[in-house]
Amino acid sequence: MKQIAITTCFLLFVISSFGQTITDLINEVDLNSMTLTIREFTGEQTTVVNGNTVTIANRQQGNNDLAADYLVQRFQELNNIVITDQAFNSNGRNVIATQLGKTNPNDIYLVCAHYDSVADYCADDNASGVTAILEIARILSEQCLDNTIVYALWDEEEIGLRGSNHYANLAQNNGDNLLGVLNIDMMGYDGDDDDDFDIDVRQGDAASIGMGNDIVDILNTPAYGFTLNVNVVNPGTSGSDHASFWNRGFPAVLVGESWENNDQTPFYHSSGDRFSTLDLPYFHQLTKLIMAYMVTKGGLVGVTNTVTETGDTLTADQAGATYQWVNCDTDSPMAGETNQSFTATADGNYAVEITSGSCTETSACVNVDSLGVVEFEIDGLKVYPNPVSSTLNIDLTNYEDARYEIININGQIVSKGDIASPTHKVNVSNMSQGVYFVKLIVDQNSAMQKFIKS
Ligand SMILES: [Zn+2]
Repeated sequence: MKQIAITTCFLLFVISSFGQTITDLINEVDLNSMTLTIREFTGEQTTVVNGNTVTIANRQQGNNDLAADYLVQRFQELNNIVITDQAFNSNGRNVIATQLGKTNPNDIYLVCAHYDSVADYCADDNASGVTAILEIARILSEQCLDNTIVYALWDEEEIGLRGSNHYANLAQNNGDNLLGVLNIDMMGYDGDDDDDFDIDVRQGDAASIGMGNDIVDILNTPAYGFTLNVNVVNPGTSGSDHASFWNRGFPAVLVGESWENNDQTPFYHSSGDRFSTLDLPYFHQLTKLIMAYMVTKGGLVGVTNTVTETGDTLTADQAGATYQWVNCDTDSPMAGETNQSFTATADGNYAVEITSGSCTETSACVNVDSLGVVEFEIDGLKVYPNPVSSTLNIDLTNYEDARYEIININGQIVSKGDIASPTHKVNVSNMSQGVYFVKLIVDQNSAMQKFIKS
């Protein structure tokens, strides 16, 4: 018998995957996650939309419903989000996601980008802005915020700012208390590698200029460690969606690569604007900066949603709250399990919902794997190829009575079954890219191996 070390690494990773301070949330902005999103969204690789494997080959007006469906699906995967699939003419379709504030739901900060394009790919213009917003939403949607955040992805920017005009008009008619609109349009190119970027503010508009100053203050906060150099452009361009808000008196700015220093992509509005031309560290850092601005304005409500595992006992790190433990495998609350700590009586994946005041946050699912089965080495076990794109082979000398589970990085079982032959084949082509674990269970024993789905 020999303990398999990978199990421990796996648990530590899951437990540490949520942060609670602004710095922690900035650090959760993940370049691998962003790379996958932008490559899928620009058709550099396939993705799965509504259960079908597809390539998003085009985002031009009237031909970009697949892209919009992808965006809706990405928001549907998140917690605490209400989606508005907003048609505004026969082809135009904004995708809006709203995360309601817990303290001041009528105080709204909006972060936006257009998703339509003028050619194939158009990674910088503006899959880069879309990707940044999806990444920020992925992280912020796990947090309670005082104020409301709207994540808005516009259609038909390229033919006259139509999507943002429609929304801004509605917001004006509704009397929405829009306190800041941060528009991102082209944020991935830095040809001279000097880390310069622009904030375009509206001349003579104190609220717009104030937003620019707030972003500069965050940029210059030493604890955040930014190395970007800012140009505040005043008067700023009115050539993108923030102008729809300027025109109606809402405070707004544009953030993106430096047109001011003539360092915008040379592949502008052409199918040469591809993922391979982007400066990824620059793109990553600008996304972190916008994340820092949005979380600062959103206002973090002080609930900690991490869990500490000691053997088979899980303890919520937040004291003095109300708790409900949840079985992640069945997605159901567990009767009577309402204390800060919970002791598992069976192996599985568990999370806790923590409620404090008006805020409920849910922890990541934590895998308890110390009961009933003992880790051991299995004769002849081989899992290959690695990375794998379509068929994963599992070799096992004594395969009778063996079964397998494939577990994703969040501890969820995404596939399972009996091992039917000495080389068992599992179709993994529909799984999204990333790190997985295959767990082999024979009698009361199990072993885990990591693999990468490419
Ligand atoms: Zn653009």
